Amino acid sequence: MKTLLVSFFFAVTSLSAFDYALKAERITSDVTCFFGAHEVMNKSNNGNIVNSCYINAGEGYVVVDTGPSYAYAESAYNAMQRIKPLPVKLVINTHIHDDHWLGNGFFTQSGVSVVGSDDFLHNVNVQEATRMQNTISPAAYEGTVSTLPTEIISETTRKKVGNQDIELKIIPRTAHSTKDLVVYLPKSGVLFAGDLVFNDRLPSVKGGNINGWITTLEELESMGALHVIGGHGRNAEKNSSKMTHEYLTQMRSEIRIAIESGLGIDETIKKVQMNEYRKIKLYDSMQSGNVEASYRVLEWE
Ligand SMILES: [Zn+2]
Repeated sequence: MKTLLVSFFFAVTSLSAFDYALKAERITSDVTCFFGAHEVMNKSNNGNIVNSCYINAGEGYVVVDTGPSYAYAESAYNAMQRIKPLPVKLVINTHIHDDHWLGNGFFTQSGVSVVGSDDFLHNVNVQEATRMQNTISPAAYEGTVSTLPTEIISETTRKKVGNQDIELKIIPRTAHSTKDLVVYLPKSGVLFAGDLVFNDRLPSVKGGNINGWITTLEELESMGALHVIGGHGRNAEKNSSKMTHEYLTQMRSEIRIAIESGLGIDETIKKVQMNEYRKIKLYDSMQSGNVEASYRVLEWE
């Protein structure tokens, strides 16, 4: 009994204070993902609003995006170990928004390399409080340390990990963010598009460039990937960029018409409601900000 109690004590204390209890979903024989809720981050979802995926490379895993906190990364890792116990060989960060990389510290503490673009050096200040820190519960954030990628790349790079050839493509223009990185697996035709692709909720254009984003989606769609996994949303079909692409294209055309007819930014926000998207989650929190951010780009054309 004493032994049992001691082992129970260690099992409990080895966990973070908060358990996200993440559920893995198999996409292909070599890709498993954790899909977040279609919500804004808050104290009940604790930032589990984002996708994180594990690539099986035979001898170990490659992780694409580490989620909003140390505890999230730990929960995903533990779920994968229950499916197949393999070490993590490499971590990749798709972009600088903090719901995608605040779990980095969970992996770097055991010496795993994290690859990300040089945008992290230019546009992330690890001394500042993060959005997550200000938004999710202290228990869920516990143990989280803003940890930059340990390997910075500024151009498209290939990595061989186990039985996978992995392409890390740097998008050469501001699109969803100032520098997005997508990950492609030629072997299984899986494209991890980061936040260039949203589903089940409205995309966020703030900090991006609508023209660069649309151009980038055209390029990604011409790659002929068999599965396209976005940064938010469950759709992993080959045409999963459709919703984001159509939304941005329609918004651009409506804003251009508004600008041509002399409307200012406030009038344009009122006019470009895109009512057919009201039923999509996060419409109320995203639509006017998206129109505003896009107007500021399009007014200079
Ligand atoms: Zn993002």
